[in-house]
Amino acid sequence: MGHKLGIDLGGTKTEVVVLDPEGQTVYRQRVTTPADSYDAILDLISRLVRAAETELGLHVSVGIGIPGAISPRAGLLRNSNTVCMNGRPFASDLEASLEREVRIENDANCFALSEARGGAGRGHPTVFGVIIGTGTGGGLVIDGKLVNGPHAISGEWGHNPLPWQRSIDGSPSCYCGKSACIETFLSGPGLEHNYRLRFGESRSSHEIIAGASAGDDACEAMMALYHDQMARSLAQLINILDPHAIVFTKKFRNCCPPTFFQILSRLRCWRRHAETPAEFTARPCCGNNRSLVRGHSAMTLNLTPGKRK
Ligand SMILES: [Zn+2]
Repeated sequence: MGHKLGIDLGGTKTEVVVLDPEGQTVYRQRVTTPADSYDAILDLISRLVRAAETELGLHVSVGIGIPGAISPRAGLLRNSNTVCMNGRPFASDLEASLEREVRIENDANCFALSEARGGAGRGHPTVFGVIIGTGTGGGLVIDGKLVNGPHAISGEWGHNPLPWQRSIDGSPSCYCGKSACIETFLSGPGLEHNYRLRFGESRSSHEIIAGASAGDDACEAMMALYHDQMARSLAQLINILDPHAIVFTKKFRNCCPPTFFQILSRLRCWRRHAETPAEFTARPCCGNNRSLVRGHSAMTLNLTPGKRK
């Protein structure tokens, strides 16, 4: 078995990692994603692969995690928040560009599978992996196997409508053509957009989160609503799937550590049928945002009922 190159194609950053046959990281590169141009994205991936091969002096197999999914019927990419990729034959274009077969999978599916098998979700029969960043995605793993579905959309909870919607939530438009999708509230750009609508000024998601921690009234109010929206969205997911564990990315945990405990308190309000409260634990995981990079930790929401005392 030779060296493997993994690419995490994010809406903001693209990261490439090469693992040797023992699974050790031997090469890593992280660059900005040219998210407005399909051709520029193809060109970037090609350059990243060639640069890694030149530096290491070897030929690698390539796997890539992408936002969205390839339609099993048409072979075209869809449901990507990097919208320039939608409707394009990404798999065939990339394979032609790299002159080799490429393994392509939805980024949230990569994250969920990796965490369920050997990371923060290990030991749990049912694991739902959550990615929140430029978009909001998810992946479902049962007994170590990815559930992908006939349309390759399993786990795409980001484009369900926000549950128990209230007037204070608003009804933001989504690139998918609908409005009030969960992604328009929970993603970084969604948080920023809703803050701007409510308070009339632009702040980055990091500034809003930091502001809330520092006692800024507007940021605190915004994050309180965000936590409630997160809790409602998770509660709906739990009511349908009843997973043993939900795993969140390290990036999200680092952005707002107190969030998890605030979500936890709200989950108790929405989950009326659960016998025991959810528990948050940090466990080592295979990767960071999308589990293509090893050596970080994720956050697990453990929903397995405890023993009665
Ligand atoms: Zn949508």
